[in-house]
Amino acid sequence: MITNQQILRLNSAGHPVDWINHQTAAKLYHLNQVIYECGSSSLILRGGYNRLKRQRSLLNLNSIVSTNNINKLDYSAFTPPLINTTLFKRDAHKCLYCGNIFTYNQLSRDHVIPLSKGGKDTWTNVVTCCKRCNNHKGARTPEDANMLLIAIPFSPSRVEYIILRGRKILQDQMDFLISHIPRSSPIFQRYTKP
Ligand SMILES: [Zn+2]
Repeated sequence: MITNQQILRLNSAGHPVDWINHQTAAKLYHLNQVIYECGSSSLILRGGYNRLKRQRSLLNLNSIVSTNNINKLDYSAFTPPLINTTLFKRDAHKCLYCGNIFTYNQLSRDHVIPLSKGGKDTWTNVVTCCKRCNNHKGARTPEDANMLLIAIPFSPSRVEYIILRGRKILQDQMDFLISHIPRSSPIFQRYTKP
């Protein structure tokens, strides 16, 4: 494991909370706030040199840690912040009209029901859309523009959001996260494809 590896933090009930970096994890270990470890991989951090023992201290950080200082999380009321990076990742960088995959710069946020027609800037009314399709659609509904959506926009759950925000997610972390989302989730299907 390398030092920019993210560590998955759970609450005491074992529910995923968020990613933390190794500094935060080291602090939680130091403060004895790590209740148990769930991962199968670990990151070894080298500390300072101890003159008396004539050796460097080593700290072993697990890839998934449960900590006891987080209050109850309300999973049902959670709405992730709506930003394009996460939106495009939700839709796997696919334009939900033409179905092609694009890079970040070629994509835009389309409001299915346009803002000018009373549509909202919310997860269930926005889709990843290539600039060409977005120009073509303009301020029309998909019906009016005769453009069909290939997937239904959804608001990611807390765990889905953690997956979408992950960088270089380790296999044990992914297995753990996937076990916390329903099989019907498009994200479950995307990450469990053979
Ligand atoms: Zn398109």
